[in-house]
Amino acid sequence: MPILNRAAEMQDEVAGWRQHLHQTPELNFDVFKTAAFVTEKLKAFGCDDVVTGLGKTGVVGIIRGRQGEGPTIGLRADMDALPLNEISGKPYASTIPGKMHACGHDGHTAMLLGAAKYLAETRNFTGSVALIFQPAEEGGGGGNEMVKDGMMDRFDISKVFGMHNMPGLPVGQFAIRPGPIMAATAEFTITVRGKGGHAAMPHGTIDPIVITSQLVGALQTIASRSTDPVEAVVVSVTKFHAGDAYNIIPETAEIAGTVRTLRKEIAKKSEERIRTICAGLATAFGARIEVDYQANYPVTFNHAEETIFASDVAIGVAGDAYVHRGIQPVMGGEDFSYMLEARPGAFIFIGNGDTAGLHNPAYDFNDEAIPHGMSYWVKLAETALAA
Ligand SMILES: [Zn+2]
Ligand SMILES: [Zn+2]
Repeated sequence: MPILNRAAEMQDEVAGWRQHLHQTPELNFDVFKTAAFVTEKLKAFGCDDVVTGLGKTGVVGIIRGRQGEGPTIGLRADMDALPLNEISGKPYASTIPGKMHACGHDGHTAMLLGAAKYLAETRNFTGSVALIFQPAEEGGGGGNEMVKDGMMDRFDISKVFGMHNMPGLPVGQFAIRPGPIMAATAEFTITVRGKGGHAAMPHGTIDPIVITSQLVGALQTIASRSTDPVEAVVVSVTKFHAGDAYNIIPETAEIAGTVRTLRKEIAKKSEERIRTICAGLATAFGARIEVDYQANYPVTFNHAEETIFASDVAIGVAGDAYVHRGIQPVMGGEDFSYMLEARPGAFIFIGNGDTAGLHNPAYDFNDEAIPHGMSYWVKLAETALAA
């Protein structure tokens, strides 16, 4: 079964919405115009319920099937753009300097709206579909805010599914894997406070540069000595600042960096190891070491059963040869991870073709992907909620 005829017919209409959204990108939680556009469309389609202001500016539309009682499944799109100056040269390029849809969230929103229109017209399913439009995927954790706002319980959502475009993957193809599909990210800043003094009288000081140098080396052992070699973990020190003069041992030194992991246990252990190493070095050298550790998005973890289900739906749309079911995880972060922590589900990539990469100023969502993405959403809902 290929893409739906109706989805192909709707491509121009949905591309029109997409290009409209592309012209007026908004950042983080400030997606007021985008959320208003989504809300207006959902109401016009005849959704049974449209709730705004979830997770600050998120929107949820509910469509009830006409085949009786059943569970509710959540389909999620993101609405926010990035702080970039667009250089795509497209006629519908961003009209707002310093803001652009460089991650294709305009396309994600438009495709889910297209699916909503179709599902509201046909309603060939039991139970309900919750159409989730979230703000602030690019760093603000809008998905987490919607979950914390009680979205899952309020709409009794039993499973959630997400989709992101992938440049380099041909249009009409899908890619997925069970288990971790995107990385957990964390950032740390470590301040080593010693005792400054004359460079020629080091015995009267506690030299933070020597201690911090040892610390940089010790942090490498998290990946090389403390973690199973087949596990993925990156601990990178990306900043090292200390001192201003040739003849002064400074009071403090500061390093900062990032941690990337694919499993919650490894993320937790990496933080613990950083703190333990710092505490041990502080004791050993008589310094004070402060660790500021910010865990960001958790691992995006695809649940086994729902991944098989999503893969089968994608195969129904694209054909077996065009669904890659065991791709390598992507080490970027994704806040759909919070929804997958709250409910079982799966996150899938859809081909964006040979375009500029995500977060590149020349990037543009590929409107040719619209009927494929729409068909995936519709088939997923109709199959999950079959009578
Ligand atoms: Zn992005
Ligand atoms: Zn994105």
